[in-house]
Amino acid sequence: MSEAMDYDAIVIGAGVIGGAIGFELARRGRRTLNVDTLPAAGYGSTANSCAIVRFSYSTAPGVALAWEGMHYWRDWADYLEADDERGLIRFVQCGMAIMLTEDGGHGAATKPIWDELGVPHEVWTIEEFRRRAPVFDTGVFGPPSRPADAGFWDDASGQHVGALFCPDAGYIDDPQLSCHNLQRAAEAKGGEFRFNTKVVEITRDGRRVTGIVTEAGETITAPVVVNVAGPHSYLVNEMAGLAGTMTIGTRALRHEVHHVPGPDDWDYSTQGFNVADDDSGIYLRGQPGNHVLIGSADPACDPQVIVDPDDYDRTIDPDQWEAQVLRANRRIPSMGVPHEKKGIVDLYDLSDDWGPIYDRTDLDGFYVAIGTSGNQYKNAGSVGHLMAELIAAVEAGHDHDADPIVVTGRYTGWEIETGQFRRNRPINRNSSMSVHG
Ligand SMILES: Cc1cc2nc3c(=O)[nH]c(=O)nc-3n(C[C@H](O)[C@H](O)[C@H](O)COP(=O)(O)OP(=O)(O)OC[C@H]3O[C@@H](n4cnc5c(N)ncnc54)[C@H](O)[C@@H]3O)c2cc1C
Repeated sequence: MSEAMDYDAIVIGAGVIGGAIGFELARRGRRTLNVDTLPAAGYGSTANSCAIVRFSYSTAPGVALAWEGMHYWRDWADYLEADDERGLIRFVQCGMAIMLTEDGGHGAATKPIWDELGVPHEVWTIEEFRRRAPVFDTGVFGPPSRPADAGFWDDASGQHVGALFCPDAGYIDDPQLSCHNLQRAAEAKGGEFRFNTKVVEITRDGRRVTGIVTEAGETITAPVVVNVAGPHSYLVNEMAGLAGTMTIGTRALRHEVHHVPGPDDWDYSTQGFNVADDDSGIYLRGQPGNHVLIGSADPACDPQVIVDPDDYDRTIDPDQWEAQVLRANRRIPSMGVPHEKKGIVDLYDLSDDWGPIYDRTDLDGFYVAIGTSGNQYKNAGSVGHLMAELIAAVEAGHDHDADPIVVTGRYTGWEIETGQFRRNRPINRNSSMSVHG
């Protein structure tokens, strides 16, 4: 790469995906700079991630990227090859169950792919589910509705038929710390980080990117710039003159996760596991100290709130809080409904089909790892590797648009096709257009 430029690659963003890409480029010997407008790594949307690690996706490459990604978390200390004075994250492998209704739902799409690829899982009868999680009411209450709707409190119309359980699933205990870990790992390979540094302009020479300009007016040059700006990704693409050049767009979607005390009669954090409950429109995750995180599986009855990522309401919406907490309360009746409304409000970088965009762009040297749609935290390691391989191939002259690269997983050795992550793919109509973390 050009010695005349300040860096070999500039990564815009120091969230979990930006950090992983910075690390992967640095460990391949590139002179890298991660820039972030916030004061430290992982202070963007990653900070409020539920950090669930699961493998339930509707396509084989989606499952493969997630399964491969799990191995990075399991191997974290060795993978980083560096210490962090703040300590390392912990991967809590509590497992995850997808509740199954008569028609199978999300689990029906996932199971054949798990069978084909060999992702370990168990098929539970509903009796087995109740044995493992006796506090759950396994009735069918759906399709999801809102507490104000007639019928919200109606008796169950039937019973779930079982669950698909993945023992290797779980969550990362501190998503912000994971970004700091990646920063330290990248720095150990020579990577640099600058915080409180906002990118306001992307510079170019003809069809090729040449670097960035910061809010302070400094120009920093590099032949490769990667947009990993999370919910601000579309604004950075606009700076690069790329508005309207991709089939798949991205927007900032407001999202709430609520935190409640677990049931008195069952410690969710030590006895429980993650649960995907499409019938109620929620997903659940334990938190040490018998707390439960209630995420929304984005049911159609809930409003989709697209916002300006620099100007949106960060207070909990009482209606949404009530919707998610009462849905969870129906599922686990002994889990009370607290008076104090606790939780977080943050943003998904939502793509049109809820799948990520990992790709080059029409501006040579300018790459994107965006549209992570509330479900790519788990993939940070495998995406860092994918993007570094993609950048190497394209910079060496490979026509990724005509012939999408196939990435070999570092841990599994699986050949992962990357065509479905391109910016100009057709919208994935099989996407559930929702996520379970
Ligand atoms: C509430 C919530 C729950 C989630 N739960 C899960 C889950 O359980 N499992 C899962 O796998 N995924 C989950 N996700 C998704 C996951 O957290 C994200 O996909 C992931 O964290 C995105 O990382 P990132 O590095 O791309 O973005 P971010 O962490 O948002 O980082 C982007 C960074 O870019 C910086 N930036 C933006 N614009 C500029 C600029 N102009 N100049 C300089 N810097 C800039 C920002 O300051 C920010 O730090 C969840 C997301 C949310 C919001």
